[in-house]
Amino acid sequence: MAGTPRDEYIPAVVAGAGPVGLMAACVLRRAGIDVVVLERRGEPDRVLKAGSLGPLAVEALERLGLREELAAVERRTMAGYAQMAERSADPAPGAPGPAEREHFAGLEKIEPSRRSEPARRRMRVPQPDLVALLRRTAERTGVRVLPSHEVTGLEQDADGVTVAVRTPAGDTAFRARYLLGCDGGGSAVRTAAGFPFPGTGPTMLGRQGVVELLDPGQIPPGIHDVPGGVLVYGLGVDRVAALEFTPPPDTDQGPLTEEELRAAVTRVSGIDLGVRRMRAGGRFTDEARHVPAYRRGRVLLAGDAAHIHAPVGGQGLNYGLIDAVNVAWKLAARLRGWAADDLLDSYTAERRPQAERLLQNTRAQIALMRPDTHSRALRELFADLMDLDEVNRYLGDLMAGLTTRYDLGDPDPLVGTLCPDLKLVPLDDRDGTGARRLAELPCDGQGLLLVSDGHPAPARAAAPWAGRVRVRHATTGRDEVSALLLRPDSCIAWVARRDTEPDTEALTGALRRWFGTPR
Ligand SMILES: Cc1cc2nc3c(=O)[nH]c(=O)nc-3n(C[C@H](O)[C@H](O)[C@H](O)COP(=O)(O)OP(=O)(O)OC[C@H]3O[C@@H](n4cnc5c(N)ncnc54)[C@H](O)[C@@H]3O)c2cc1C
Repeated sequence: MAGTPRDEYIPAVVAGAGPVGLMAACVLRRAGIDVVVLERRGEPDRVLKAGSLGPLAVEALERLGLREELAAVERRTMAGYAQMAERSADPAPGAPGPAEREHFAGLEKIEPSRRSEPARRRMRVPQPDLVALLRRTAERTGVRVLPSHEVTGLEQDADGVTVAVRTPAGDTAFRARYLLGCDGGGSAVRTAAGFPFPGTGPTMLGRQGVVELLDPGQIPPGIHDVPGGVLVYGLGVDRVAALEFTPPPDTDQGPLTEEELRAAVTRVSGIDLGVRRMRAGGRFTDEARHVPAYRRGRVLLAGDAAHIHAPVGGQGLNYGLIDAVNVAWKLAARLRGWAADDLLDSYTAERRPQAERLLQNTRAQIALMRPDTHSRALRELFADLMDLDEVNRYLGDLMAGLTTRYDLGDPDPLVGTLCPDLKLVPLDDRDGTGARRLAELPCDGQGLLLVSDGHPAPARAAAPWAGRVRVRHATTGRDEVSALLLRPDSCIAWVARRDTEPDTEALTGALRRWFGTPR
């Protein structure tokens, strides 16, 4: 496909059809924005990276109407785990099953039931299945995804961004009002737009692949401390990973081969697992870097393009998808003409502190995974601490991203948090959507004012924002709350408590801040 002429703009161009780029494209499109996604690859990536999705990402995907499809993928994945378990050695007594297996620093002691909100759960959805699902969803709703389109450079001016693209048919260019770089850890958009990327270099090297083993009965599924590092089997169906902390430097070249994975497994563990066939595999490190701001003019970054870190604890994709949701509704609001420019800056202000904590916790996990005597002693102590309820809950919440709270300047502890999928019991049928859960309400870039006690003042205050904020009268099962204002990313922007009169002045302030000046 040819690019766009210089004077014709695509409202939003997304670089990268990975999970984050596709998620952002879906949210933008649902909000009525024309989106083109440029993807370097001609074929989907089959390497299994993320094997599970954290609860915030699950909830965001459910708001796109993907609940049933996610559940079907998870059922298939669990069947795969069951088959793997039959082939493998018996786990140690009391070891967690694959659905409960959550860890911090490889210590598989996190119990989801001990989290502060156990109903918000992780789902076993492998990344390649998620990408395929998002791609179908994006294309179904009118997103144009262009494979074999590699972003090679960009120039921005006051009106837009010119994106240079290489295709098999030759070089071309696209004009965009905004460019969202979701092109992964090696982001070309980040480099071309001049984002700094400070952080810490790699101290370890991991190799991982989905494999067939000659003798799977040699090792039970789990994360094993072995003399040379860490050996992981079955975090992801049939996946083997070897983590080395003093990697031989000359092997880190080209695509990972079966021989290289097999040699790494033997080096760390002393076991020859007999890797017979590797379906897809790759390397990873603990390099941890983060852009100081997620926006430069009309170019924004999300997901691994904005932050990289060691893939420990199942977190990166969870964070990336929530970046996508956070930036996409704001970009849509800006493109629809009712948001001020500084709404886009709130994206960095909200997401950067969350990702900074993420980088820190992955650095701490890697420090605890080293095989030297002193680190192993620290690890033993840490393992004991994880038996304490509060520690278990703290780490469980952290790994699931449930500690996410944006500083919106309101001391109410609910404001700034991401609302779970509440059950709705309508007080009347004025709304007409028939939704019985929050996630069933239309996902179209509108906010939501949820009034649970029939008080007329909040709905009256929100009336001038009709078309940008939907009002619904329903109980939510949260008895302490009488009204909630939710942004399109499900962030709670204002709350009224049942024991007090709703503060409509504060509500009007929040409406103006997030949904612009009413017409
Ligand atoms: C071994 C491993 C296990 C992991 N496990 C988990 C887990 O269990 N849970 C979790 O939450 N996270 C996990 N992660 C992290 C997660 O995989 C990443 O955070 C996630 O892939 C980030 O998605 P993304 O869309 O930002 O980037 P990517 O997935 O890297 O996608 C970027 C896309 O951009 C394309 N692209 C690149 N350059 C260009 C260009 N110049 N022009 C156009 N397109 C381009 C790429 O081809 C790709 O399709 C794991 C990672 C690894 C390595």
